[in-house]
Amino acid sequence: MKEQYRRLQPQIEKAVRDVCQNTEFINGKPVKELEEKLADYVGVQHCITCANGTDALLLALMAWNIGPGDAVFVPDFTFFASGEAPAFLEAVPVFVDVDETTFNMDPASLERAVRKVLAEGRLTPKAVIAVDLFGLPADYEKIRAVTNAFGLYLLEDGAQGFGGMAKGKRACSFGDISTTSFFPAKPLGCYGDGGAVFTDNAQWAALLRSLCVHGKGSDKYDNVRIGMNSRLDTIQAAILKIKLDAFISGELQNVNRVAEEYTACLDDLVGVTKPQEGFLSSWAQYTIRLKDGGERYRIINGLKERGIPSAVYYNKPMHEQKAFGESKGTEADCPVTEGLCGRVLSLPMHPYLERPDIVKIAGSIREILC
Ligand SMILES: *Cc1c(COP(=O)(O)O)cnc(C)c1O
Repeated sequence: MKEQYRRLQPQIEKAVRDVCQNTEFINGKPVKELEEKLADYVGVQHCITCANGTDALLLALMAWNIGPGDAVFVPDFTFFASGEAPAFLEAVPVFVDVDETTFNMDPASLERAVRKVLAEGRLTPKAVIAVDLFGLPADYEKIRAVTNAFGLYLLEDGAQGFGGMAKGKRACSFGDISTTSFFPAKPLGCYGDGGAVFTDNAQWAALLRSLCVHGKGSDKYDNVRIGMNSRLDTIQAAILKIKLDAFISGELQNVNRVAEEYTACLDDLVGVTKPQEGFLSSWAQYTIRLKDGGERYRIINGLKERGIPSAVYYNKPMHEQKAFGESKGTEADCPVTEGLCGRVLSLPMHPYLERPDIVKIAGSIREILC
């Protein structure tokens, strides 16, 4: 982030100064300009920015009236917010297992989970939240077949997936509604919190615009429904306009170069994820699979001794999070996620990593293991 700031500093400081001088801190011109740029890049009709990626998920579920008695299917291997959003609205997140190599929702496990909820008859299946984990779009062809068969809404949680592609389409265009986050560490990050919702549906877009400003009607003092206060502020929008240009003109390509270099160095040594034919990842994380927890422990410590940071995303399946305890609804059947949580490790990943850094990190892992 420091290197990125160094490169963009003059433009970013000018943009922030302009907002300060215009004092249009809320709903200034850059917000609308950013929304247009984002919709255009993603390839959808409507983009509505909001305060963060968690609110973006909430807003989408609120637009569909998701609430008590509803089942929302969520991958077991993801960041907490994907399950938190439906639970916050008092729906039940039902956790679904993931694919061992892509880390994304396993469509066969999804279908099993939907059938199980229907057979139990206690909850109404309403929506699927598919996550583009670590930057790679989920398998939307197969997930869409399931949502179509059972009449479910499809929500794409693209918080980590912005910029990715599958079969010629960009991430954040695969859901009936799709969302992203601009938290600083995401593929496209701002300098604080931020998020966005995307859809081709004009009615939902209008509803989302109302929901994120206190359920406004003709103006914000005419309130026609219960909503939230969830806006992207103008300073963040101005920064994101500049960062989006940098993302499009080089950063996305650069993280893919870094990933290729990592994979070339590590392929024979550990489990690596290679995007399937026709897929492009935006590499929110570069995550390797090790033999077991012991091997992971040795690598974490060995890297630390060499001054190289690493992190475990995620060390606990969603269905084991205490917060979901009672609301879990159905017993999760997610052996793949349980296995992954014990042996995944994410390596340093950003567009400004140079080849010598990558060779050093990969070489260290080889030393530690061999
Ligand atoms: C980061 C993240 C979110 C939440 O985004 P915030 O902007 O931090 O609220 C939601 N889902 C996933 C998969 C994420 O990684």
